[in-house]
Amino acid sequence: MDKRQRRRLRDLLAKLDTGERDRLTKRATKLRQAALRTMTGDGRRPELEDFLLRLLDEQEEAAAGFAAAPSGAGAPPADLDGSRRGTVIAVTAGACVVQAGGDSLDAVLPADLTRRQQSGLAVGDEVLLEPLGEGHRVTAVLPRRSLLTRADPHDARRARAIAANIDVVVVMVAAKAPPLHPRLIDRYFVAVERSGARAALAVNKVDLLTDAERGEVLDLLQPYLGLHIPVVLCSVTTGEGIEDLRDVLAGATCVFVGQSGVGKSSVLNALHEDAAAKTGAVRAGDGRGRHTTSASSLYELPGGVRVIDTPGIRRFSVDAADAVTLADGFAEFAPYAARCRYRDCAHTHEPGCAVKAAVDDGAIARSRYTSYRKLLGGDDDPQLGDGADDTV
Ligand code: GDP
Ligand code: ZN
Repeated sequence: MDKRQRRRLRDLLAKLDTGERDRLTKRATKLRQAALRTMTGDGRRPELEDFLLRLLDEQEEAAAGFAAAPSGAGAPPADLDGSRRGTVIAVTAGACVVQAGGDSLDAVLPADLTRRQQSGLAVGDEVLLEPLGEGHRVTAVLPRRSLLTRADPHDARRARAIAANIDVVVVMVAAKAPPLHPRLIDRYFVAVERSGARAALAVNKVDLLTDAERGEVLDLLQPYLGLHIPVVLCSVTTGEGIEDLRDVLAGATCVFVGQSGVGKSSVLNALHEDAAAKTGAVRAGDGRGRHTTSASSLYELPGGVRVIDTPGIRRFSVDAADAVTLADGFAEFAPYAARCRYRDCAHTHEPGCAVKAAVDDGAIARSRYTSYRKLLGGDDDPQLGDGADDTV
């Protein structure tokens, strides 16, 4: 960041009130953490200030009425210089498919993006394109509102971008079959919190419950009801909750994560109403006979719900996190954590820990605190189904 940008950032920040400044700083910190996790070593490490300025720029743009329309809702046509803006709907080797104002365009990636494509570009990314020959070339990846990442299987410290600019991550569990493990929910919530997206909890297959079991499930869910996270009980079999889920997701771009077998595909199908409404495969070619078919990973569901579904999301797993990031995933800890004796309290053995005191008082659910401790200890808990194929 140069001097001029620094001055501009200072001026813009000075216009905000403290609460707004804190909120922005928190968002910028998260975005920076996400970006650092996806860095591959080439390129400069972005500073917090870079992200702050980006967020402020976005806000200003939005206030001025230039906020980019979500593509699909009529993305802007080509600029005077022929450059266009669109949403990445599929990523292939060295190229991607971009939806721009109703067109699906094949675009090649510049070399540096190709090199770190696994981490550098994801479905949901907003990009700028310029014409190249008969096709297009990506010239820039625009700042992300959120980024869902997963650990690189070959290097756990590195992360791969799996979906960008998601508004809501729907964490889906089954009320029964596979059995409901609150700890699994907590692990997902930590990952959602890190991504910068909002979480929603869908508890599917409630048709399988007896009245008594339903009561038990509601007890297990009690800690989540005060978290300002929508919780929807649903069943594909009876249709219960499906429309509630649609309402929760209206107008949002979302992804569904959860163990295999909980019913993600079934619920998505139920939300489709009509499978034909799915804007499925995109056929794209370069016009020279070398045709490629890329499956679009971005669906439009009735009720204004956009869903990103990729193999990466299906394999989505929750990786290790440090204490601070981890505690962020437990929103109800925050008011107490602020009162711990030590600022960097990990809420484990420290004297004067207000979080532990709140657990003892029953103000924080013990099950959630236990989850936190287990996650902090890197407990992988094989019974939760972290198999190679059925990762969580
Ligand atoms: P995914 O792996 O999460 O996509 O799960 P699927 O959608 O493939 O569903 C796994 C199994 O659960 C299938 O046999 C579905 O028919 C079944 N299933 C899905 N939703 C429900 C539900 O609400 N109730 C019951 N009883 N079964 C369901
Ligand atoms: Zn503490």
